[in-house]
Formats: sequence, C-alpha cells, structure tokens
Amino acid sequence: MLKLTISILIILFLLTLIYIYVIQPIGKTNKINHVPSPTSKPVVMIVIDSIMDEPLQEAIKEGKAPALEFLIKKGDYYPNMVSSFPTMSVTIDSTLLTGTYSNEHKVPALVWYDEQNKQFISYGSARKEIMKLGPKQVFENSLFHLNENHLSQDVQTIHEELNGKSASINTLVYRANQSQQLNVPRILNLLGFLEKGDSIKGPHYFSYGLLSKMNPHNKNTQFWQAFGFNDKFSTQELKFLMEKKSVPTFSLVYFSDNDKVVHKNGTKETKGIEDADKQLQELFNTHPSWEEAIQDNVWIVMGDSGQSDIGEDKEEAFIDLRDLLKEFRIHQISGPIQEHDQIVLGLNERMSFIYLLDQKIKQESIAALLQKDKRINFIAWKNGEMVQVISGDKKNELSFKPGGDFTDSYGQNWTIEGNMNILDLSISEDNKVSYGDFPDGLARLYSSFYSHTGNYLVVDAKPGFEFIGEGSPTHLNGASHGSLYKDDSYFPMVVTGTDLKPNHERMVDLKGWILRILKEDAQQ
Ligand SMILES: [Zn+2]
Repeated sequence: MLKLTISILIILFLLTLIYIYVIQPIGKTNKINHVPSPTSKPVVMIVIDSIMDEPLQEAIKEGKAPALEFLIKKGDYYPNMVSSFPTMSVTIDSTLLTGTYSNEHKVPALVWYDEQNKQFISYGSARKEIMKLGPKQVFENSLFHLNENHLSQDVQTIHEELNGKSASINTLVYRANQSQQLNVPRILNLLGFLEKGDSIKGPHYFSYGLLSKMNPHNKNTQFWQAFGFNDKFSTQELKFLMEKKSVPTFSLVYFSDNDKVVHKNGTKETKGIEDADKQLQELFNTHPSWEEAIQDNVWIVMGDSGQSDIGEDKEEAFIDLRDLLKEFRIHQISGPIQEHDQIVLGLNERMSFIYLLDQKIKQESIAALLQKDKRINFIAWKNGEMVQVISGDKKNELSFKPGGDFTDSYGQNWTIEGNMNILDLSISEDNKVSYGDFPDGLARLYSSFYSHTGNYLVVDAKPGFEFIGEGSPTHLNGASHGSLYKDDSYFPMVVTGTDLKPNHERMVDLKGWILRILKEDAQQ
C-alpha cells in the first residue's frame, strides 16, 4: 500500500514537472492593442453547448439557475430555436457565423470524407477515433483546415463583416481578418504539431484555450481542464474584457462543459446548466448590479442543438453500420483510403454519411438494406436534382427539390412528391407546408447533399439510438445528437436589451439579426 502511495506521489510530481516544463506555452498572452470602444451597446452572445428547454426550466424551478432566470424574466425567451444539420458543433457554428446552411458554408459535419483529396476528415470526436486517425491530423484539421480551407471563401463570417470589432472566445470556427500568433506549448512544438510563431486568421479579440488567451491571469488551462476549453476559462476571458471596459461590438463566447455532462448522464441532467449559470453570475457581478449588466450589453444566451437519450442495452441502442453493411469492404480509418475500399462511413453520432466509392454499388440497394433496421428513422440520397427519402416504417418514398408550388413556414419554395409522412410534413389546401418531427427538415436535409462532393447517402437514427463504427464515440445510458429529429434540433435562446427579433426562429437567421441589432444601436 505504502509502495503504491509513493509511486502515485512520484507520478504526480513528474506530471507536474512535465506540465511546468513541457506543456506551458513558450509564448505569452495576446496583447490587446487599443481599439476605440464601440459606440453602440455591445452584443454578448454566450453559447451553452447542448442546453435544452426542459432541463433549463427544471433548473430554474429548483432555484439552480438564478442568472438565466433573471434574463428570461427581463427579456424574450425562445424555447424552440432550430439548429442546422447535422446537429454537430462545427456545422452549427459555421451556420451561426455565416447565416447559411452547409450547402453554402461547406462544413459538412464533424466527421466526413473529402473525395477530392481522398481524405477522411475529423475535427475530433472520440479519443479512440483521434488515436486511430493520428492526433496530429485531427489537430491540423480543426485548427487550420476547418477555418482556412473547408469553410467556404464565398461566405463571410460575422467576424469578417465586423472587421476588428468582435471577439471569439473558445469557438472552433472563428475565421476573420487579423493574424493572431499562437502560444505554442513546448510539447506541441516537440511533437511537430506547431512551430514557434505559427498563427491563424481570427478576430481582433481571440481566445482559444491554452493556444491563445487575452487574460494573462487566466489559469484555467491545465491538462485536466481540457487545456482551457472549459466554461471557467471562457468566463475569465470575457470578464477580463468587461473589467477593462474593452468589450467589443460583438462577442461570441463558448461554454463547452454542459455538452459533456449531458452526453454522459442524459437529457434530464441539470448540473451543467447550474455550473454555466454560476459563470454567468460572475460576469453579471462585474457590473455594479445585474440590472446594469443588462443595461450595458445586449445579452443573447442560447444553446446550439438538443440531445436525445440513448438506451441502456448496448445491442439495441447502437446501430453498427459495419454489421448492416458487412457484405461490403468498409474503409478502416487508421490508414489511407485503399484501392479495394468500397464504402467509407462518416459517423456523426445519430446521423451518418455513407460514401460509396465503388461505382457498381447502387444507392437504392444500400437504402433498401438499411431500411430493414427499424431503429433508422430515414435514409436519403440524391437522385438527379431530387433528394429521395425512405423510411423503414412508412410506405413508398418522398422526393423533393427547391423551387416549386409548395411554400413552407419559412417562406422557402419546394417541389414535393410522394409520401409526406416520411418527413412528417403537413400540407394545407393552399400548398403551405408545415413541419412536425423534423423542423425546417427540407432545407436542412437538402443542405447536406450540397455541402461537399461525392456519392453518398444520409442516414438518421430514431430517438434512443446512435450509429457506431470504428472508434466512434458511444453514449450508452447517456445522450447524443447529430440527427434531423426535433429532439436534437431544438435549442432555447434568451435575449435582453433589444426589441428586434430574428426573421425566423432558426440558427441560420441569427447572423442577419445580430447585424441589424448592431446597426440599430449605432443609429441611436
Ligand atoms: Zn455533443
């Protein structure tokens, strides 16, 4: 026993030394050059990853979320905002920043296959998957390629439009005009991940965990704190700007901790909301009173997507696409694409891309195979201009394309044929389309077939189930997201300090709305 204790103490001591001498960054804190204070009231947008309406209401009822309760009392509350598709962080962030779906911003998902460069792309999902792909490749994809190469140059981020007057704190998508030198930890330098002096193009105010911080006293970057990708770090960065009276025109601040506890414990979990609320309280408390905090800023506090509970029986809850497609040769992610690979799986928890590399395989036959599994909600593929959708328990098929005589609740026009029940569409006598289980389902699903090139299908799981494959994350008895289904798609939003409302209650409408708020403020 004593021996064990001594060994543990020695290991802890060594870890501390490694941290001090190897992981601590070579560079220093970002210097914030003076930028004139904005004339308008700053918009502070805080995204609490995977916050949902029901647990939020529960936390408020139990008195665990006083700051959020205060905001809801003082402002507008939107319980059912619609996310983009797939409901995975990088695609959603890109929609938020550019005001477009993935058919325009071109960030297809967290995990996808780039057929032009024959590369399997992941921005980092499960630890196992990262190890199989090689941490360096995942790191480079998320830090450099996502913003520089994958996010389309044909769309502008809100940071680019606000040129120099915005902050990005711990958001993975951040592209803007200013060169930001990174703080390079020695270990990343030694491993060849980063060179001293490496930089990215981000907004003027830029925080990215250990790699970039504004507050020199922000200590929340230890390796057990996800190297700064945590709520406390984000709070200390924004608090620093508030205390220096340097809050720019627009700040986007990411609180990532809630997502992890919901994945682990399920959708009823309120601990993450309680903890995020404490951080909000700390931010409010930097003002003489909470009333003044909301007078000084426009606050937008919101989620990014919902989650669905995953069952507790492994055999039932996990849809193993390798089993369902076992007659084909499926690409193994630990190596490059092989000549004989027939199928690549792009798993995004409750949604998956199925890429057909072998021209002889017909999309229809893959769809028919998958249709037999009752845990799959729908299977979709592109057939000429039309997107075709089938489901295991609904007859026939549904096909649709943009333009046509049907107008949906967001003012988008469509041609629609076949069984409307497959995507739970209701059509009125005057050709108006309204959505049920799949909010804004047509535009969101359509976007996935134009987000990147390739011959692929999209599959979506029913609530309770998730797709698994090689190294993919699993959430038995927890929760996950990714699908087009309403539980994954809705997120709440609370707003104080403006009477303006977004055109529609969707993530894709927020960029235009924020720019309108800033314009109106500037005119006052
Ligand atoms: Zn998540």
